[in-house]
Amino acid sequence: MGTPGFYSTGGTYVLFRLPHSGAGSFRNIALPPKPSCAELRLMSPKPLTGGCLCGQVCYEAAGWPYNVAHCHCEDCRRASGAPFVTWASFKRADFRFTRGQPRQVHWANRIRSFCPDCGTALTFLASEEAEELDVTVASLDDSKALQPAAHIWVEDKLPWVKLADGLPTHPRSRT
Ligand SMILES: [Zn+2]
Ligand SMILES: [Zn+2]
Repeated sequence: MGTPGFYSTGGTYVLFRLPHSGAGSFRNIALPPKPSCAELRLMSPKPLTGGCLCGQVCYEAAGWPYNVAHCHCEDCRRASGAPFVTWASFKRADFRFTRGQPRQVHWANRIRSFCPDCGTALTFLASEEAEELDVTVASLDDSKALQPAAHIWVEDKLPWVKLADGLPTHPRSRT
């Protein structure tokens, strides 16, 4: 699979895939024309902001979101108290808390963060050293700006959650 990326149209991020590099059958496919500098500026992501229910913890994510997906794993379900959680990945360096600090909970070698006052689930790290950070899409100020592209950990999905959105499903994680 190619490297997924996003472009922005009117505030909505759309997933696209680059052709496989070096794969014979894709070699002759013309890439889309390079955007001009002005177009590139229009395509740059606006920082996405979000925070918890009570307003004690706020954050900002400046880079491109990717891997926007619904996770049906048991840990996400229990941690959120909801049937599944929708996540967006950001480079860790592009993400910062702008007000307050969350409570970090280490569980199953992963690190989840929550507002210490109201409990809103905010972020997920696969490890202390992870360079990627997942953010709960529903804690964004404008959750509509991101478009989920997949369901993951579907083998843990509750049977009464019926998927009808036509998105790709993965039994576990993507890899
Ligand atoms: Zn809070
Ligand atoms: Zn999960």
